[in-house]
Amino acid sequence: MIPVALDRPGAVKLAALPPLALYIHIPWCVRKCPYCDFNSHERAGELPEKEYLNKLMMDVEQALPLVWGRRIVSIFIGGGTPSLFSPEAIDALLSGVRARLQVEPQAETTLEANPGTVEAARFRGFRAAGVNRISLGIQSFDDRMLAALGRIHSAAEARAAIDAALASFDNVNLDLMYGLPAQSVAMARADLAQALACGVPHVSAYQLTIEPNTVFYRRPPQLPEHDVAADMQLVVEEALAAAGYEHYETSAFARPARRCRHNVNYWQFGDYLGIGAGAHGKLSFPDRVTRHERTKQPREYMEKEPSFSERTVAPTELPFEFMLNALRLVEGFESRLFTERTGLPLTLIENELSHAESRGLLERDWKRIRPTARGQRFLNELLESFLTAGRRSPAPASG
Ligand code: SF4
Repeated sequence: MIPVALDRPGAVKLAALPPLALYIHIPWCVRKCPYCDFNSHERAGELPEKEYLNKLMMDVEQALPLVWGRRIVSIFIGGGTPSLFSPEAIDALLSGVRARLQVEPQAETTLEANPGTVEAARFRGFRAAGVNRISLGIQSFDDRMLAALGRIHSAAEARAAIDAALASFDNVNLDLMYGLPAQSVAMARADLAQALACGVPHVSAYQLTIEPNTVFYRRPPQLPEHDVAADMQLVVEEALAAAGYEHYETSAFARPARRCRHNVNYWQFGDYLGIGAGAHGKLSFPDRVTRHERTKQPREYMEKEPSFSERTVAPTELPFEFMLNALRLVEGFESRLFTERTGLPLTLIENELSHAESRGLLERDWKRIRPTARGQRFLNELLESFLTAGRRSPAPASG
């Protein structure tokens, strides 16, 4: 076997490009939540819908040479709170995208919405605009928890938003959180029971974590002990499994055939073009994988000529970047995907794979590589083993 010198140009060779998704960022919210570290900004008065839409279209146009001839397999309109935009604006946005990019006719098209910003007519308008999946930021059905999280909605508004969403969409996700200030395991169980009673096909359940640059970081609330939060995670996983949801990614649970195709593409180290303030993108070319980033501040994004920063991911970083995504998938990935997406031979990480296997964190057969139950639980530990994986020559191939 010829060793691969990863610092040489041409070290990466992709035989085919991955599926391409489109992410559109809408950066405004009614109010900034104290735990939120996303690029979201409290709106001040009227939203500059028209101005922002124009800039988004210019943003797509400047990116066209990078994605020429490729088809968009899914669209995700995230934020922020994109449901603050009118259905007419979302209609203009999706029409503009379809006029400039080749979007697959059945592309999953998700819009993030928050209770308190949507009612039935608005959902009908989003559906008519071409949105076919709604992701609702519910977080909890307990008014005390919602207040502690600084959310603008009540439990009653959450339930009304779900009913309204389900009246127009059959593909709805609920975002839930556990490990909340002063939350008990029984309260987390009750929250989940309410989510299940709604009958939505997808649930994303996240543990609250305290991130830098948030109000909670500066004034931390009293969170449940680590063991209690771990018990909540078990309760969530068991209840969703008992109700027929497949646990397919660290935090994602779906009824059969309802997995989020857009997110699965991220986790399979697929490509995505990101447009809008602060949007990130990942685009592959036959000899390199690149990452892109747009100006973060909405005002600056709208005032400046469209531009983005681009960096080529060093081949030495690709194994870790791939694993960071793919090992979140409960079923792991097909072995061939590593080479398809990174352009590197799997033998490059043979030592790390064997080591993780011997520690009971990973298992593999002739076709797939997947985290064990222990590997899922100690995911960071598993990922750490791939941090330096690309910095050596590959292990000799067996045989
Ligand atoms: S609604 Fe969502 S995006 Fe907006 S501030 Fe709250 S957590 Fe962040």
